[in-house]
Amino acid sequence: MRVADVGGEEFSVENGFNLSVVFLLDLSDDYPHNNEESRMLRRNALASLAALAFCGIGSTLYAVKSAAGDRTVALTFDDGPHPELTPRLLDILEREKISATFFVIGSCAVHCPDIVRRAFGAGHEIGNHTWSHPVLTRVSLARAAEEISRTDALLNDLTGDVPNTIRPPYGAMNDRLSELALPRPLILWDVDTLDWRNRSASAIERAAITSDGGIVLLHDINPTTVKALPAIIRNFKSRGYRFVTISSYVVGSEKGDEAQYLKDLPMS
Ligand SMILES: [Zn+2]
Repeated sequence: MRVADVGGEEFSVENGFNLSVVFLLDLSDDYPHNNEESRMLRRNALASLAALAFCGIGSTLYAVKSAAGDRTVALTFDDGPHPELTPRLLDILEREKISATFFVIGSCAVHCPDIVRRAFGAGHEIGNHTWSHPVLTRVSLARAAEEISRTDALLNDLTGDVPNTIRPPYGAMNDRLSELALPRPLILWDVDTLDWRNRSASAIERAAITSDGGIVLLHDINPTTVKALPAIIRNFKSRGYRFVTISSYVVGSEKGDEAQYLKDLPMS
């Protein structure tokens, strides 16, 4: 293990079992995006954590945050790509020189292959958000597997890489899905901006920036989200935050409460 590469870092963890995995994960902050060795390290680290989470401490994936002073935020955009709005978001991210993560829907990506390639080529992470956005806990396990594998195959075709992470639509997950996803973790979020419901850019901005970093849930299918993004970025930057992709920052977040997330289903 190349733990020495992150020497001096201290982390707060919720379970001692995760510690060695955390060190490995932090390696990914510095790697060149298309470096094969780094990709393997990142994937192995995520796999280790998912296995620990599932086998050792139940199905809950623990959020692991770096210690105070190492402020990081992972902006995540779900439900795209959108033919017009996603390129506008990519323009903003490029201008601001920051990385983010796009959890794409396969049936949308197939119509916007160049946008997926552009996002990946710019160093953003592409995550799997299923093919048609079903509630995975309400379909058969075979259908869930098909939703994930079909999207994997398309994204692998477009980027040359299978996504490292999966975000279940609506945050709906259970132990069977966690096991199905192995060795990859199912990624939820720390902060829900409710941008799919909120049509006010300032409300989205407020929701995002009141957080202490972490994983911020946004959607690249809403014009208001695009409008809110520059102010969100400016605010985090002014507070000294670093912007990282999901695999760089996170290992997972607490297991979703399906009932909570299903109360108000997102628009897509
Ligand atoms: Zn979604």
